[in-house]
Amino acid sequence: MSERIPFCLPDITEREIAEVVDTLRSGWLTTGPKTKRFEQEFAAYARAPHAVALNSCTAALHMALAAIGLEEGDEVITTPYTFVASAETIVYHKAKPVFVDVDPHTLCLDPAKLEAAITPRTRAIVPVDIAGHPAPLDEIVAIARAHGLKVVEDAAHATETWYKDRKVGSIADATAFSFYATKNLSTGEGGMLTCLDEELAARARIISLHGMSKDAWKRYDKGGSWFYEIVETGYKYNLTDVASSLGLVQLARIEDMRRRRLRLKDLLFRELGAEPDLFTLPATGEGHQHAWHLFQLRLNLEALSIDRARFIEEMAAREVAASVHFIPVHLHPWYRRTYGYTGGEYPVAEAEYAREISLPFFSSMTDDQALRVAEVCLEIGRSFRR
Ligand SMILES: *Cc1c(COP(=O)(O)O)cnc(C)c1O
Repeated sequence: MSERIPFCLPDITEREIAEVVDTLRSGWLTTGPKTKRFEQEFAAYARAPHAVALNSCTAALHMALAAIGLEEGDEVITTPYTFVASAETIVYHKAKPVFVDVDPHTLCLDPAKLEAAITPRTRAIVPVDIAGHPAPLDEIVAIARAHGLKVVEDAAHATETWYKDRKVGSIADATAFSFYATKNLSTGEGGMLTCLDEELAARARIISLHGMSKDAWKRYDKGGSWFYEIVETGYKYNLTDVASSLGLVQLARIEDMRRRRLRLKDLLFRELGAEPDLFTLPATGEGHQHAWHLFQLRLNLEALSIDRARFIEEMAAREVAASVHFIPVHLHPWYRRTYGYTGGEYPVAEAEYAREISLPFFSSMTDDQALRVAEVCLEIGRSFRR
């Protein structure tokens, strides 16, 4: 019996460890010089004019929506096929998340259904680059411009994604990245907000740190002053230098890690492509650079005698972990209770969710592990062929 294959493992080398130790010895643990450098290097990588390091992507989404001035009673359009952070950060502002169903191929927000959801209260659109496949940004930005809306992109999966010839981070008014433990670039917990507009970035920076009129860490710098003013009600969302040391090294390694993911993706496509009647393989993002954060396999349920839950149990019995991305947001109890959803409102998201399995997929995964994952899926699929 081969060793159990986990769903995800971090990709941490001696370089990250050395950089963290360097920070620990530096006398500066929280937001300081390494976070500044991480912001600068990430902005250059994302081709973004401004970047604000924050302690999560959730914080970045929250601050982006604060910076555009979202208010109680406003509406923001997003997709139900996402992690709850895309919607809950709208709710933080007492605004209403309005869902628009997804394209069944890419699982990203379907731009053909977007305009019908716009009302006089709509202020922004929050597209999600699901699994690292870019949302249809040209269409979304064009519709947003035509209606005077802001675009706040949830790029939690899309650190390495390019949309056509433009880097994600340089397209939407604001773009939120995640450096959570399972994400392609990880700082354990962490995030980044990139903005096109300097004033938007400045507002987000101020609100993310108590509404203070200047960066607190500068107060303790040589020549820094003790004086600050609270100009807004703010939050405590700054990223630490310990986390940023991980981020600097992960960013330096990102192309190597991306190449690993591409190799693993190619192996899974080659192997699983042998049974096209059993499995639908993920959209590959032709013409874009897909970040391959997740490998979202979809079961062709009509060809199988078991459902998705049973398929995952069969995988577990063969020592292969799996996950599901995502339970559509509107189906969660709080969203049903608060907005009256009963299920059936977003049929594409619901149908694709019912047949989705995220396979183990991470840059420190070996070729043999990827081949074993494919072998297990083929074995289960073939033995439960209807
Ligand atoms: C992980 C994730 C987030 C939240 O990221 P955190 O850094 O954990 O706050 C937001 N949106 C999506 C789609 C995610 O997968």
